Amino acid sequence: MAKVVLENIRKSFGSLDVIKGIDLAVEDGEFCVFVGPSGCGKSTLLRMISGLETSSDGRMLIGDRDVTHAEPSQRGIAMVFQSYALYPHLTVRDNIGFGLSLAGRPKAEIAAKVEKTAETLQLTHLLDRKPKALSGGQRQRVAIGRAIIRDPKVFLFDEPLSNLDAALRSQMRMELTDLHARLGATMIYVTHDQVEAMTMADKIVVLNAGRVEQVGSPMELYNRPASPFVAGFIGSPK
Ligand code: ADP
Ligand code: MG
Repeated sequence: MAKVVLENIRKSFGSLDVIKGIDLAVEDGEFCVFVGPSGCGKSTLLRMISGLETSSDGRMLIGDRDVTHAEPSQRGIAMVFQSYALYPHLTVRDNIGFGLSLAGRPKAEIAAKVEKTAETLQLTHLLDRKPKALSGGQRQRVAIGRAIIRDPKVFLFDEPLSNLDAALRSQMRMELTDLHARLGATMIYVTHDQVEAMTMADKIVVLNAGRVEQVGSPMELYNRPASPFVAGFIGSPK
């Protein structure tokens, strides 16, 4: 569990300024949703928090630690992507346990943690299957399992549900909200889907062209949008 603080975070690719000075605090245990149109910099910002991308300027803290220059593995975070990135030749069991195997944890410890994680995500009956024998929702749960098993302080999600059909998406929304309640972890969740933002978030950060347009609870944004952009984005369906 950890607070995430961004201070004047910027990112340029060559002459292209993508993130233009972001100040933000995500509270310990909060479910924070970054929402904004395609290309506004959501994935870039998330990759910077994960350490997969370096920031061009600014400072970043996770918990009490300055992680501005820390490697991804030193940040206590786990990231779940839109594409599930599962290993096709490994079983669900080995996919979930992969990170711990890589870290050289004892086999008995890995086995116990995989069982517990599978139970949390209702995957126990699927542990011996390969990814190709799973539905889209089941694959996404395995991807989440791989993140959970490492006990991260902070979870980062980049549009994890956008490849799923509408019915499954709404089921997974509820599952993720429930998971957040049970784990109590800090979650930062990127989406361009207003419904996801409105139904899942404790706090919504509306991004527009690399800047924060408004920060607030779903009801605050809905009732008191700070700009026509926010009003249009939160108020109208895609
Ligand atoms: P979003 O996730 O909100 O759709 P992205 O963060 O993926 O937006 O991209 C924001 C902008 O940064 C886009 O214009 C994209 O083309 C650009 N961009 C992202 N990554 C790179 C990169 N590695 N090199 C150059 N431009 C990039
Ligand atoms: Mg993106």
